[in-house]
Amino acid sequence: MDVAVIGTGHVGLVTCASLASIGHQVAGLDSDTGKIDALRRGIMPFSEPGLGSLVERVVTAGALTFAHDLAEWVPDADVVFLCVGTPPRASGEANLVAVESAARAIAPHASDDTVLVEKSTVPAGTARRLRQLLCQHTPGRRLEVASNPEFLREGKAVQDAMSPDRILVGAESAWAFDVMRRLYRPLIDGGARLIETDIATAELAKHACNAFLALKISYINAIARVCERAGADVVSVAEVMGADSRIGPAFLAAGLGYGGSCFPKDLLAFERLASRLGYDFRLLGEISRINEEAVQAVADRVREALWNLEGKTVALLGLSFKPGTDDVRFAPALRLAHLLAAGGARVVGYDPLAGAAAHEEVPDLWVVADPYDALDGADCAVYCTEWDEFRELDLRRVRRIMALPVIVDARNMLDPDRVSAAGLAYYPVGRSAVEPDWAVLGTVNGAEPMPLPT
Ligand code: NAD
Repeated sequence: MDVAVIGTGHVGLVTCASLASIGHQVAGLDSDTGKIDALRRGIMPFSEPGLGSLVERVVTAGALTFAHDLAEWVPDADVVFLCVGTPPRASGEANLVAVESAARAIAPHASDDTVLVEKSTVPAGTARRLRQLLCQHTPGRRLEVASNPEFLREGKAVQDAMSPDRILVGAESAWAFDVMRRLYRPLIDGGARLIETDIATAELAKHACNAFLALKISYINAIARVCERAGADVVSVAEVMGADSRIGPAFLAAGLGYGGSCFPKDLLAFERLASRLGYDFRLLGEISRINEEAVQAVADRVREALWNLEGKTVALLGLSFKPGTDDVRFAPALRLAHLLAAGGARVVGYDPLAGAAAHEEVPDLWVVADPYDALDGADCAVYCTEWDEFRELDLRRVRRIMALPVIVDARNMLDPDRVSAAGLAYYPVGRSAVEPDWAVLGTVNGAEPMPLPT
């Protein structure tokens, strides 16, 4: 089938490459002409494991083209995907200006028998607006709107696109369902579950899924706050909960909370949507509040460990909102950097991929190219993102180069025994701290550390 994808960001580019790889002829278009030019030169706009090689393969095979001109590609398309951004407005509502402007640009060029598919996350009711817009611009033509929300996880996007848990399609006619079934036939034949609903249900289901995942994270973070006060261990509590098949173990890791371009904004947008529809969905506001509290709790932990932040250097290990991506949108590590800097600390950060993007977002954050450079002379190290390479750090070397041997494990990713065996004070989230005998192991800022016990 001929497919046009409007918006070649995290979702659009993965959509382009995955559909091209299952046999479709795909054109990727974007209002950012520089991005299209770069893609034509083989330069990826962001980091996503396996995506660069997949794009190269399908472009070389002639199945994917990056183009500027909608008029050239939209008329022949059987399916046109809208993958543009839906950022939050100041009110929290989704800003749908890009969705509308992309649809306006498409309308004059779309031919009969085209399905316009919302892949962007949009509030329920958006398809109705799109249909009205299409009717105004293309009276008498058979153009249908369908909803096909995206569930990919950044860092695992290619895997998720090629082997999705489910493919959700909301549409209104048997014809549109048939087009979408033909489009995804290779994935469905490969075992992907297709769920077909009406359009409003598909739009709403995407919000319901994201809100529920965020709920699980905030739930375990609230449990962590109680564990800290009760002397209980949140990691064990999560293990017990996860062993219950009705609950499941995923998304029950206490820590800095969620970030990224989806959960924070989608939750706000869902709350505003519910409110506009006359339902006061206060639970959603609580999820966001607990998520912000999670970052504040780590900042408080750092301050407690260091007594005063003024004059202290704090090293943040991991700046992206999760491992496997260079995306720093709403990254909790950056909020933590703001809080610590506002408290008077000098904040240095390292990330395998996201250093440059993080520095752009938080100019006060001093970004270095090696984790040991970040830790050298630091009074506290905060593990912010679960990059595997942080588990491999030589903790005895870390102990030697830090000014104060203080580790705040904001993702509970280290083995407490290993950290304390290396002579470091260990402050995890929602579980007991392991403090060394400072009389034996303590060092004064800038002084040579005492020798470690053998
Ligand atoms: P993104 O910012 O990475 O990409 C959006 C792209 O759309 C950009 O390249 C931008 O230049 C382009 N664009 C904006 N306006 C345009 C227009 N009028 N015409 C053509 N192109 C235009 O965003 P993203 O992360 O890919 O997210 C896109 C949508 O998918 C959002 O609604 C988001 O909530 C949703 N989503 C994202 C993820 C994710 O993990 N990133 C997962 C599921 C759903």
